[in-house]
Amino acid sequence: MDISNQTASPIIELKNVYKYYDDTAVLKNVSFTVNRGETKIILGGSGSGKSTILKIIVGLEKVDEGEVWVGGENITSYTEPPLMKIRKQIGMVFQEGALFDSLSVGDNVGYRLYEQGTLNDDELLKIIKQTLGFVDMEDALEKMPSELSGGMRRRTAIARALVGTPGIMLYDEPTAGLDPITAGTIIELIIKLRDVEQVSSIFVTHRLNDAYRLARERLIQKDGRLTYQSESPDTNQINTRFIMLKSGEIIFEGTDDSLKQSQDSYIQKFFS
Ligand code: ADP
Ligand code: MG
Repeated sequence: MDISNQTASPIIELKNVYKYYDDTAVLKNVSFTVNRGETKIILGGSGSGKSTILKIIVGLEKVDEGEVWVGGENITSYTEPPLMKIRKQIGMVFQEGALFDSLSVGDNVGYRLYEQGTLNDDELLKIIKQTLGFVDMEDALEKMPSELSGGMRRRTAIARALVGTPGIMLYDEPTAGLDPITAGTIIELIIKLRDVEQVSSIFVTHRLNDAYRLARERLIQKDGRLTYQSESPDTNQINTRFIMLKSGEIIFEGTDDSLKQSQDSYIQKFFS
């Protein structure tokens, strides 16, 4: 059963998008949707266009052909002022999770809100603490980025993106460079956002194990507690689907199982 398509209500949609750098097409006829509450995992080798897709959705890059829709609005030709409004709905975790090294964890997390200047210090601190609590980092408020482990830096980057409770999260290789255990804790956090907060998201990665965990586990309420649970392969209820990019083209879209069964030679090589 496919629950993602029954009451399809796209929160992100790319329609026949082409993007060129100089004369080279880095995205070719890319079309896909992310429905409300859904997670799309974008797999693809280095240089296949994954980060470019995310930059297009936040309006940091413009498309050369095609359309980009976010939250029901056609943002394809939006200028900066309307794009700022769109960006408020989106939390983006950039590749490498770049933090401001001269700012404390708390200031990194509160940065977006400071800039907006609409809240007083007490209100800001409250939101920063809540957000750090969500990523299990409440004790790190005053720490500097240089004092953090790799996993804590990624958590901070996620917390920074979460401030303002965006309905959409875009993760650009959030587990790259982390050991498997630490990567697992980041995946759990992303599952929590999907299943508890119903955040719609795009998760870009080239790490298959992390992608599969995200597609096969969910967080459920059991005896009044939240527990991570693997789903049985025959149900496919988890609202997470895969896209595979190859040199700027989508060559696969579907569930984890159908990806695994694909006979495409490029996909098979990706798995080996
Ligand atoms: P991925 O994130 O999948 O590794 P990217 O989306 O970053 O791939 O890049 C896709 C292609 O576009 C690559 O060949 C890259 O070299 C090229 N590219 C990305 N950004 C630029 C840019 N600003 N100028 C020129 N080429 C770029
Ligand atoms: Mg990239």
